[in-house]
Amino acid sequence: MSGTKVVELVDVSKAYPGGVQALRGVDLSVEEGELAAVVGPSGSGKSTLLHLIGTLDRATSGTVRVAGHDVSTLSDARLSALRARRIGFVFQHFHLAEGRDAVDNVADGLLYAGVALKERRARARTTLERVGLGHRLTHRPHELSGGEKQRVAIARAVVAEPMLLLADEPTGALDSASGDVVMGLLRELNAAGTTVCVITHDREIAQSLPRSIRFRDGEVVL
Ligand code: ADP
Repeated sequence: MSGTKVVELVDVSKAYPGGVQALRGVDLSVEEGELAAVVGPSGSGKSTLLHLIGTLDRATSGTVRVAGHDVSTLSDARLSALRARRIGFVFQHFHLAEGRDAVDNVADGLLYAGVALKERRARARTTLERVGLGHRLTHRPHELSGGEKQRVAIARAVVAEPMLLLADEPTGALDSASGDVVMGLLRELNAAGTTVCVITHDREIAQSLPRSIRFRDGEVVL
């Protein structure tokens, strides 16, 4: 482990309109090369944490640093650039575009990286091969199994070669065999250098990962 902090939260709180205090004074660091589970009961703040780290939302107070940048100081344009180049997202329900084939879904992961369409598609094909879907390039989401859809979503998340991959219950909608394949892929990506944070309710998965970050009532617990 290099010791470089990819993510650093200092005394971070997040209140939603209506008075819900989703995070309360969270201090947390994730170093380059880590593979960490984010665990805790429903409503404890896990998704809120991922949204703040992923710069999809802003903290109410405290400091969030991603790749060394204090995100509160970045303009919307710089924040979008950080997100497009450095961070990949995977969601429980895939979030693929229905009418588009696997290649174009993955190529969309490069839309904001300033890459021409032909190059986007070429890199999408290579990444789909990397996740074992070289034989499904022209399939649309409804022609794919749940596990295959999640592999397409992972390919889209990593096609721009982000340093940080954030996954919100990526196996939550899958049978256990497909879930194993998806977790295997996340491990491979991590072994190749990507820092990975994965929310999971699956105790076995959490226990199999090198680190667990535990939440309760908006706080990190040991
Ligand atoms: P988890 O991912 O651990 O289930 P969340 O981060 O989704 O927890 O939610 C933490 C708390 O914040 C919950 O009480 C939830 O109802 C609330 N919450 C989450 N998102 C919003 C939102 N957009 N507006 C208002 N409250 C929210």
